Order: sequence, then C-alpha cells, then structure tokens
Amino acid sequence: MVKIVERKCTITRSPEFEKKTLATHALNVGVLCGHGCLYCSTPATLRMKTSLFPEYEGSAFKAFAAGEAIVDPTTPDRLGRELAALKPTDTVMLSTLTDAWSPEAQEFNLGRKCLEKLLRESKARVRILTKNAAVANELNLLAEYRDRVILGLSITTPLSKAKVAEVLEPRASTIQERLDALQAAHEAKVPIFGMLCPCLPGVADRQEDLDEMMSMIRPFEPVAVWAEPVNARGPGLALCQEALVSAGFIRIANEVRFIRGEREHRDYTARLIGNLNVAAAGAGLKSLLKILVYDDGGRFSGDASSVIWLKC
Ligand code: SF4
Repeated sequence: MVKIVERKCTITRSPEFEKKTLATHALNVGVLCGHGCLYCSTPATLRMKTSLFPEYEGSAFKAFAAGEAIVDPTTPDRLGRELAALKPTDTVMLSTLTDAWSPEAQEFNLGRKCLEKLLRESKARVRILTKNAAVANELNLLAEYRDRVILGLSITTPLSKAKVAEVLEPRASTIQERLDALQAAHEAKVPIFGMLCPCLPGVADRQEDLDEMMSMIRPFEPVAVWAEPVNARGPGLALCQEALVSAGFIRIANEVRFIRGEREHRDYTARLIGNLNVAAAGAGLKSLLKILVYDDGGRFSGDASSVIWLKC
C-alpha cells in the first residue's frame, strides 16, 4: 500500500548525521519506506505524527507492520532556493529516514530527480545510501559528478547468510544485487563508502561474519566504512525475531531475542566493536572504520579508536 502526501520540508540540517560524520544535511522523499526492513527505526521517529496514520489508530508502527509506504512525489519540485544556499563543504544525504530508490520512490523517479537537482543546481556533495540496486540506473549521472558524489548500498549480512536478509528486508534488493550495483559503480569510477548496518546478532556480529563482509566490500576500495549495532528500541527486534522463527532461522531468532535486555545489548555491542576492529584490520580497512554507537562509552574498556559515541 502506498500513500501519497505533500509535505512542506525539503532539505534539512542534520546535526545527528553530522555527528556520525556522514552528512551535514538530509533529504528524504517521503515519510515511510516501502522496503519494509523489520528493524527499521524510522517509525519510532513518527510517534508524534499520528494524523498521518488515521487508518492505523495513529500508529506509525502499525502502518509500517501492515506494509504501508508514504511517499511525497512533489519533493523534487519543491527543491528551490535552499539548493543555491548549500556550500561546497556541505554534504546532503539522500536519504536518512526513507530510501530514495525504494519501490514507491522509483514509481515517481524521485531518486533520479532529486539527485539531478542536487548535483546540477547546488555546489554541495551528495551521499547516497540505499538498499536498492536500482540506483545503478543513475550510473551516468553519478560518473559525471564523481567528484561530488559518494555511493553506499547497505550490506547487512555476509553472502553466506543472504537468505536471512531476504526475510528481514523483504522488499529491498538482495545482497548479491547490492554487490553487483556496487561493482558497476566501482567500474564507473564512482566513489564508494561501506555501510555495514545493522550488524544483527547471529547474522553479522561474529568474527567470521564480519571478516566475510569486509572482504565483500574491500574490492570496491571504499573511502570509509561505517558499521552500527542494531537499535534495541521500539518493536523492531521483536518483529525480526518473529519473522526469523517463521522462516526457520530459530538459532538466529534466539540470539536476537537475547539482546533485547539492556545489559545483553551492551555486551553484544562491546563484542561487536572488538570483532569489527579485527575484521577491518584483517582487510586493511581499520583506518577507514567508523563504528556508530548510541552510548557515551563510559562503561566500555576495549579499543574505541574507531567508535563514534553518539551520546557524548
Ligand atoms: S531501507 Fe532503510 S528506511 Fe527503508 S525500511 Fe529499510 S531501514 Fe527503513
């Protein structure tokens, strides 16, 4: 189900993504993304927007669980004066809360239209983050502006566990399709960044998982690699657990259930940081690694040289 809305906002400053060293500004093409990743944290940001979801008792979580997507086809048309105001040192992230190449965004060609306006009518850099290989349709444009654009397709499982991604990210491209899109972009000399997020327990947190994931992205010569533990807030982990059980991934479902406790989540995060450090070092990517953690780091005693503590 796709709902059409017309919003007022376009490009916004994003202190959160600035702290993550990903971008200074954000541009989203809608409100709720149709890829339907079960761990998605966007519905949690829509708690106060009850008027958007009258059919779901005002709940973004219920709308998302029902497979609803909310897209704003007017987004590119409303990009105007703020484009000229952007500086060459600014980076606009397309997108932060939705995906500009999700199926409903593709219907209106929103990723392409926004990208063209950003690149042709502003001086800012553009960082694309998507889980859809359809972004490869824009390779000519990306290659033309390769000095101002950087592309990432989230890698959430090693290839050896790609079936799990199909359960947890039901309408996103497969992991192999994302790698193929990255390969095509790399061949077109488009700069690439790595995004290993979220690193779910039992899927992308063990040493062998992370070694495999680093070796999957290393051939694309990423300029940086971000990684992040899964967020434990909201119903995301419970939804993942339920879907994993239904698909027969019982052991992974149990691991997901286990980290729902606060202390267990902290321990999982600490282990993940250690394993990411080792995997990145093994792949020769340690100096490029940035691990995003929603904590102040006060209780962490390991190697935090690659960690960005988001609560500091
Ligand atoms: S692609 Fe991103 S925004 Fe879309 S559902 Fe998945 S996590 Fe949410």
